[in-house]
Amino acid sequence: MTGQKQRTRDRYPRALVSDTEAVRQLIRHRYFQPHVTPLQIFNRATDPFLPAVRLHTLAVLAALDARELRNHVLVITRHQMRREDITQLNELVSIRLTLLFTYSGIDDKRIEPYPSHVAAESLKLMSAPSPRRYRTILYWRPLVPGLNDSDEHLDRAHKLSLFADATVFTGLFYRDEIAAYYRANGLPEPYGQTARRKIVPETLERRVLTAFADSASLFRKTSCAVSFVHGLPDYNGHYGIRELCDICPLGQLDRCRDAHRIPSAGQIHDAARALPEARGLTVASITSRAAAVTGLPGEQPRYYLQHALNFQVHDAAHPHHRRRHGRADVGWEAADD
Ligand code: SF4
Repeated sequence: MTGQKQRTRDRYPRALVSDTEAVRQLIRHRYFQPHVTPLQIFNRATDPFLPAVRLHTLAVLAALDARELRNHVLVITRHQMRREDITQLNELVSIRLTLLFTYSGIDDKRIEPYPSHVAAESLKLMSAPSPRRYRTILYWRPLVPGLNDSDEHLDRAHKLSLFADATVFTGLFYRDEIAAYYRANGLPEPYGQTARRKIVPETLERRVLTAFADSASLFRKTSCAVSFVHGLPDYNGHYGIRELCDICPLGQLDRCRDAHRIPSAGQIHDAARALPEARGLTVASITSRAAAVTGLPGEQPRYYLQHALNFQVHDAAHPHHRRRHGRADVGWEAADD
């Protein structure tokens, strides 16, 4: 195959296994906990509502629902959705389905090749029916200083948020690859350094909170918004990170407080027993905010524990700082650590 043909082929999503087999493998995976593990469908490598993917997305959702699973299922899209999608998605009765519409409002095509207004229209279309079984979220990301943080951008996002059940705002994962892309294309770099977490500078966060001062459904964390729209406590147990909750509605605070349990080291080890790769687990500390652990080979077993315990489980090697909300330190004053 020529290089050109290979590149063309690589641009089109291809199913690696049938939908039935994909669901079978998923629910047999040792990290999958029925009714507990939050799922994201076709998120990493493609968009779930691209024309070539759409039927697979609907089939996988229907297959999960037919098994009467009550897991959260997150479908993150920026694509055009259709009126008939409303009917199909409203037929799902068991899974807790949330549609998240990725919207940045960035106009520069070198950074955002797919126009934001498409996701905005999809959000409006899918949010309009009432009542409906699925929920909708304005997934406002990435917020990047100089690109989409003008007062007009914030105002536009606020207006759009009125259509959604909730809104999440997050920053940019300014990784080395992205910094290299910015430099190669002569784009002004938003930050002087890269980071392993998302960046939302303090001043920008303050401006967002001011623009959304009248909102009762703005969240910093995806899991908080997803849980809120289904009337459930946060499945990632963020309640211990108290400063995250200052923008949350009172009813949701009550839900999360009632569900908040600080696990013992023994309970963390018990939860890890199902995972052979967690044999080297050591619990470094437990506070009301989070448990810090070492000895896990990656993020996935840590997330498994977090969902099993409904409590934040951090990697002791990468401590979270107060008021950063699990974000990068870039753009925050150091004095409040
Ligand atoms: S109360 Fe706190 S943990 Fe619960 S959803 Fe709100 S922000 Fe998240």
